[in-house]
Amino acid sequence: MTNNLDTPHKCNWCPGCGNFGIWAAFKLAAAKAGWDNTNTAITAGIGCHGHIVNFLRINSFEALHGRSLPVACGIKLANHRLNVFAFTGDGDCLAEGGNHFLQAARRNHDITVILHDNAIYGLTTGQTSPCSPKGFVSKSTPQGVNDEPINPVQLAIVAGATFVARVYSSEGPALAELMIKANEHQGFAVIQVLQPCVTFNKIYTHEFFQQNIYELPEDYDPTDQSAALLIARQWGEKEIPVGLIYQSAKPAYESQLSQIQDKPLVDVQPEVRDLQDLILKYS
Ligand code: SF4
Repeated sequence: MTNNLDTPHKCNWCPGCGNFGIWAAFKLAAAKAGWDNTNTAITAGIGCHGHIVNFLRINSFEALHGRSLPVACGIKLANHRLNVFAFTGDGDCLAEGGNHFLQAARRNHDITVILHDNAIYGLTTGQTSPCSPKGFVSKSTPQGVNDEPINPVQLAIVAGATFVARVYSSEGPALAELMIKANEHQGFAVIQVLQPCVTFNKIYTHEFFQQNIYELPEDYDPTDQSAALLIARQWGEKEIPVGLIYQSAKPAYESQLSQIQDKPLVDVQPEVRDLQDLILKYS
């Protein structure tokens, strides 16, 4: 099956940027799964990743900085039947949008987050981001950053996400398969995509990932949360695991709404309402 998601816009990412791999993988997944304008919506935040809304002919919303996830949650709440994907960068998702990430994860909203992790702010020409390694030198930290980087996989698991994966942006078929699985999963799904910024990040290059990632073995059990947290910590020479790292079954936020809406309202603060009545009476 082919569904043409092309738009007339010319790609303006730098040649070699990892965003190309994510874009191609999404189109491959869409063709396989039948995602199009009738059944799918995407959101993006601010950053190089956000240009993807211009290159996919599909319902889309480019939100304020850090607001890709709450907009995606709102779309899913309004129409549970849509496939909803939130594209976001590591700065957009974990700095400006950090609290939205935590809240969406703990509620287990039924959306898929595609986290373009290039460990830098690329659109603003190269500043240190929450995923930049300690000591990273950039325009914003010319003497090297003193902060420990956020590990998005560990954070997602601890915050309550129920499907968490990591993949390298040039592994197109694997990324497309994970996108399809994540969308089929009922609940908050996060795919951390290791995405080189070839222009500004000279540490996490294509060569770096090609030399250091390894596939999780077939007998790896993603339902073991403790093991998943340990696996997610691995980061070093030939030691960066990719694949589905964690998955658990838990009701998605949207699937519980009808039960909540059917419950009678409880007057939790009668004394406050008594006081309001008194004020109204004597005002
Ligand atoms: Fe890609 Fe970096 Fe260029 Fe942005 S600045 S398009 S992330 S290579």
